[in-house]
Amino acid sequence: MEVLTVDSLPLVQPGDNIAQMICENTVLEEGDIVVIASTIVAKAEGRIFTLENIVPGELALSLGKKGGRDPRLVQAVLDRSYECLVGYPIMLMQSKSAHVCINAGIDDSNVEDGKLVELPEDPDASACRIGEEIEKLSGKNVSVIITDTNGRAFRIGQTGVAIGVYHIKPLRDWKGTHDLFGMELKISEEAVVDEIAAAANLLMGEGDGGCPVVIVRGLNFHTDQKVTITDLYRPDDEDVVKKALRSFKQV
Ligand code: GDP
Ligand code: MN
Ligand code: MN
Repeated sequence: MEVLTVDSLPLVQPGDNIAQMICENTVLEEGDIVVIASTIVAKAEGRIFTLENIVPGELALSLGKKGGRDPRLVQAVLDRSYECLVGYPIMLMQSKSAHVCINAGIDDSNVEDGKLVELPEDPDASACRIGEEIEKLSGKNVSVIITDTNGRAFRIGQTGVAIGVYHIKPLRDWKGTHDLFGMELKISEEAVVDEIAAAANLLMGEGDGGCPVVIVRGLNFHTDQKVTITDLYRPDDEDVVKKALRSFKQV
């Protein structure tokens, strides 16, 4: 597998055509996986906002006080969340697009001072739109993974994770195959899109590298089927960690 940066991309502005930017700055090959940082997808989709004019409600005021944060930011996070799993000192939310992450994915890095960037509204739809456009422009079949940087429960340090996919299945199913000693694997499913996101994130970095797009070449993971990142999210009623968090709910 080769992991390659796409260099010379500009600061992305609302309305920019990311597929075109990518195709103008790199030569794609059949089966390439185009990994794109959610920050630039969000910028292109105009998902930038400020805290001005946000009026915090009662819950936001209370969580803001307990967590020592601007209640307008808390309100912005709540507005984008389906469920609050931890309210303070961190805000661990299930976003409306089902992704569980801190602050519902709202970020203040790599945007102009005072501005915030929020996740794409429907990252699978964004991945599909960009993927189809890349295929049209390049004449190559590609897969797309949209990533964000997330922390992990229990572990220090952040890694890249997949939040939207096109033409690549999120999971590789090992069930029914055998281990070295002939034992049948019964539950192993490998989150390949998260592994690829993490590899790509190594080259993207988090700072001023200006490298929001990485090409992963040589993995045979392309599918023409319709795929969705929701395959990665455990059904609510089977998620024991969510259940435990709900039973401790501080809000
Ligand atoms: P996230 O992981 O999706 O939240 O994105 P990051 O803010 O961590 O940025 C990932 C990479 O993309 C870093 O190398 C940033 O410098 C770069 N980046 C972010 N926004 C832009 C942009 O508008 N243009 C370019 N060229 N790079 C950007
Ligand atoms: Mn982010
Ligand atoms: Mn990042």
